[in-house]
Amino acid sequence: MRSSMTSKESSFLALPTGNHPIFFAYFPANISGPVVLGEMLSAGLGVQGMLWSTSPACTEIETRMLDWLGELSGLPAEFFSTSPTGGGVVQGTASEAELVAMVAARQRVRARNPNHGPLVAYASTQAHSAIQKAALIADVTSDLTADDHLRTIATDDRFRMRPDLLEKAIAEDIARGRQPFFVCATLGTTSSGAFDDLSAIFDVLSRSDFSRMGGWLHVDAAWAGASFVCPELRAPLEGIERADSLAWNPHKWLLTNFDCNAFYTRDKQALLSALSVTPEYLRNAASGSGSVIDYRDWQIPLGRRFRALKLWFVMRHYGATGLREHIRRHVALADKLEQWVNADARFEVVARSLSLVCLRLRPREGEQPASIDKRNALLLDRVNATGKTFLTHTVLPGVHGEPARYVLRIAIGGTHTEEQHVRACWDHILTESYAV
Ligand code: PLP
Repeated sequence: MRSSMTSKESSFLALPTGNHPIFFAYFPANISGPVVLGEMLSAGLGVQGMLWSTSPACTEIETRMLDWLGELSGLPAEFFSTSPTGGGVVQGTASEAELVAMVAARQRVRARNPNHGPLVAYASTQAHSAIQKAALIADVTSDLTADDHLRTIATDDRFRMRPDLLEKAIAEDIARGRQPFFVCATLGTTSSGAFDDLSAIFDVLSRSDFSRMGGWLHVDAAWAGASFVCPELRAPLEGIERADSLAWNPHKWLLTNFDCNAFYTRDKQALLSALSVTPEYLRNAASGSGSVIDYRDWQIPLGRRFRALKLWFVMRHYGATGLREHIRRHVALADKLEQWVNADARFEVVARSLSLVCLRLRPREGEQPASIDKRNALLLDRVNATGKTFLTHTVLPGVHGEPARYVLRIAIGGTHTEEQHVRACWDHILTESYAV
C-alpha cells in the first residue's frame, strides 16, 4: 500500500521517541523496569481507589508513598500526612495539580472575603502555559477578560519572576478593588530551568494583604522537583514551608512512567471544601467516621488508579542512592556539554540549569537579531533532520534591553542517556552549524 504521508510527516516519524537516549527535546519522560512492573501490577489488580472503602490498600499505600517521597526530597513536615492539616496525593499531571490548587485557593479566598472583587492570579511570563489553562478552566471571574484572570510578571536577567513587579501588580489590583488570590511560583521553568526566588516572593506576599486575605501560593516544580532527592540541590526549596502547595512530576525525571504527579499541600481542608461533593450513593461508614482519606476529594475526577504502586516499586528498587545517582549523572553530563559549548567561540550558553542547557550560535559582527534567530532555527531543523538526535527550541526574553533570543534547548534526562549520546548530539550541532 502506498503511503499518503508527505515527506515532512514521514521525517517527523523518524525522530527518536521520548525514551530514546538521544531524545533531548522538551523534557524527556522516564521509564524503568521496576515502574513497568508497578504499572502491570496496578493494571492487573484493576483497583478503583476513589474512596478509602473501595480499596484501603490503594489509599494507605499512596499516603505512605507520598510521605516517603516527601521525606526523600527534603520537604518539611507540614506537607506530610502525619501533620494535622497537610498531606500528599498523586495527581495525573502538573496541569491538574495547578487547577486543583487554584480551585482550593478560590474557595479559601471567597470564604474569607465575602465581599471580594474579581479574582486575580499571578505567575511569571516564564511560568508554564498550564497555569493559563487552569485560570481559564477555573473561570476565576467573569468580570475580567481572559488576560486579566492571570497577570504575567516580567522576569529578571536569570528569567526569575521579579518580586518587585509582583508586589506592584498586587498593590495595583487591590487599589482597583480586585482580589489577588493565587500566585504560582516556578522552580525550574520549562524554557530555561529558572528558579523563582521563593523567599523574596514570600516576603512580598506577607508585606501585601495577599497572605492576610487567604491568598494561596502554589509552587510548580514539575521538572526540577526530581532533583530535590539530592540534598545538595535543595537550595531553591528555601522557605517552602510557607507555600500552600507544591507539585512535581516523578514522571518526568524520576524513573517513573507517565502519569504520576506528586502534589503536596499544607491545607488539605481547602481542597476538601472546594472539591468534596457527596451524593448518597458514595456515603459509607468509613468515610462517615472522618478517620480515613478519600482521595476523590483531592482531585478533579472521582475514579483513580493505583499509581502509588509505581512510586513504591521505583523507590524500593533504586533506593535513595540509585535515585540520586540518576539525577547527578544527568547534571554531570550537562556540565560536560556546557564546557564543550563554551570552548567554541561561535556558540554561547544562554541558560543552564541542572540538566538543561540552552544554547545558540552567537551573532556575527553587525548581524541583526532576526537573522541570528533565523540561523539558529535553521540549525535546529538541520540537526533534527539527521534523525540522529532530537532537540526543541524556545525564545527567551531579552535581558539588559536586548531583544528576545531564539535558543536550542538540550534537555538531558533520558533513563539510558550516556555521555556518548550527549557528545553525538553536540557533534551533530557542530557539523550542521557550518552550513547555516
Ligand atoms: N509545569 C512545568 C514547569 C513544566 O515543565 C510542565 C511540562 O513540561 C508542566 C507544568 C506541565 O506538565 P504536565 O504535562 O504534567 O501537565
